Amino acid sequence: MGLSMPSTRLSRDRREEVLLARTVESALAKAQPALPPDASEEELESAVVYVLAELDEPAADGAAVDGTRMAGLAPFELPIVFLDGLEVTQEVQDLAHPVPLVEGKTTIVRAYLRYPPEAVTVRGELLVARTPNGPWRAVPSLGPAQLDPARSGTGLANLRSRRADLNYSVNFRLPDDLTGAGTVWIRTGAIRRTTGTVLPSLASLAVREVIFHPAAPLRLHLVRLRYSLGNPPVTYEPSATDVTLIASWLRRAYPIAALDLTTTMVTATPTPPFEAVQINAQLTALRAVDVSTGTDARTHYYGLVADGGFFMRGRASDIPQTPTPSTVASGPTGPMTFGWDNDGSYGDWYGGHELGHTVGRFHAEFCGAVAGAPYPFPDGQLSDSDEAFVGIDVGDSALGLPLRIMPGTTSHDVMSYCPNQWLSSFTYSGIYDRLVAEDALPSGAGGAPRSDALAGAGGSPAAVQVVAALNLTQRAGAITSVLPAGLDSGAIAPADSFGVSVRSRDGDDAVLDERPVAFQRSACEEPDDDVTGIVDVVLPALSSVTTIDLLLDGEVLDNHPVGGEATEVGAFVGARPMAGPGDLSPAGLELRWEVPEAPASQRYIVQVSEDRRATWKTIAVGLTEPTITVDPRDFAGDELEVRVLATTGTGTTVFRTDTVPLE
Ligand SMILES: [Zn+2]
Repeated sequence: MGLSMPSTRLSRDRREEVLLARTVESALAKAQPALPPDASEEELESAVVYVLAELDEPAADGAAVDGTRMAGLAPFELPIVFLDGLEVTQEVQDLAHPVPLVEGKTTIVRAYLRYPPEAVTVRGELLVARTPNGPWRAVPSLGPAQLDPARSGTGLANLRSRRADLNYSVNFRLPDDLTGAGTVWIRTGAIRRTTGTVLPSLASLAVREVIFHPAAPLRLHLVRLRYSLGNPPVTYEPSATDVTLIASWLRRAYPIAALDLTTTMVTATPTPPFEAVQINAQLTALRAVDVSTGTDARTHYYGLVADGGFFMRGRASDIPQTPTPSTVASGPTGPMTFGWDNDGSYGDWYGGHELGHTVGRFHAEFCGAVAGAPYPFPDGQLSDSDEAFVGIDVGDSALGLPLRIMPGTTSHDVMSYCPNQWLSSFTYSGIYDRLVAEDALPSGAGGAPRSDALAGAGGSPAAVQVVAALNLTQRAGAITSVLPAGLDSGAIAPADSFGVSVRSRDGDDAVLDERPVAFQRSACEEPDDDVTGIVDVVLPALSSVTTIDLLLDGEVLDNHPVGGEATEVGAFVGARPMAGPGDLSPAGLELRWEVPEAPASQRYIVQVSEDRRATWKTIAVGLTEPTITVDPRDFAGDELEVRVLATTGTGTTVFRTDTVPLE
């Protein structure tokens, strides 16, 4: 008749275990209310003694507890689960929890438990509340955990082997809605054998307070640089994997609540094989235009260069010691493993290193990294040899990247050149503080005057911004662009000029203005490398200037024509598909616009919008010819808003916007 009762019956041992679990539970219910949240070790210990006494003599009045009797109880042999430690970690942590927990970031709680009688495999639940006394919400453990009687005790040394291996802690991921800024309280709930029976447990006595700190986002514009090399030319560009992995890595490793990421594909202006300093100058110009046309001024720009054609070593344009999001950087990417990175792209941690420079982080001088600053742990490690600090990578299930431990002595800080890179507590806290400080900066600093200048609304600009890349060792340099600017744009700290100056001349070659300018030396150089850097300077826009010279020790390295009225930008003509260089880019779309009688100083800026002209992204600056080839695959949708700005630097700027079909 119907289903019979399950035939499995609890063994006598299990029945006793279940009975004991119930008894412990009711003893706990008596002890718990007397305990303050975040009780001290001493308070917890006396609560445990009280509960054990209750178990020993359930009928007795609780007042009978005394230490002499407890000494004979040998609690380590009791078939009861004890708590040896609770660790709350996001990226790296010490048992004393000195690393700030960041709101909105994936958070792992690890419970280190002790079960004296035998090895047992358990699952558990974590109880989480927004007040010290509940209501408690139960969170199930991520998987089973081994409790091994040989791994017991509360000290750092006793916990070491359990902290090093995710299989020996009961691990929980806090629900996202419980990681908002503020305090949460956590304690362990039921601990069960994987067969389902509840183990007697005193672990839940300890209630821990956890504080999530307000955090800033990392605003990042990732510029994927495309270049062609070889004969016949082959086009190289960062893959979708490169972009996905750097985004994932920054979310996992950086102390951020969110990654506000935008990307563009841009053709590299310098001729390959180029150096990072040239890309950094291009990024500086792109960023200057973007910020003046609506991009948040706190946005960092990073250039990704695929290593298929050549390997471009990464560089940052500075290591600013005050919040300076205008500091740009660029670096290589590709599938190489460096012997330890098997996720399919090394551009993630490499980018994390270069971006680290842009938020003020110096090298940790290990494994070949030089010109750095003091670092607190030996050999670039995340921890001293006691492994007080243990790293954790929360992984990314969408990318098949597992939750894993980054051991304190074999993982190394991202600002070193050592293998197995991760962020130490030192770097993590430093970046946290800097990003919070950057977040307090105005979102549109210096943008308005240039917007007016770019839009032609303010007549002739009051100033021009000159961006150039230099290699002092080779005594070479090139002006990347001359942009109309407001006098308050381009905040350049006083610095050494290294002999670099900028000169303005008129049509008769008379010198109107000449001044030393700050040379921003590239960061991340090796001792034998050429000295490279960029110039990013704002000059008064003199009405009669026709040429701007870039000089090193008085010798002209490059010049750039400026001045005159920009001519109107005409309609696009002959927007037509054309064969791209090489098989990798078969669908280039050439756009050309009419500019009759344009002065020699006229240059073109091209912006695109994929959201009906709500936001614009600059894809080219300083074009000398009125044409650009775009790849329809770079854009979503079947049509694209394209805005062309014509500028002569010191003269007026005009623009034209069109809708271009991409099919
Ligand atoms: Zn570096």
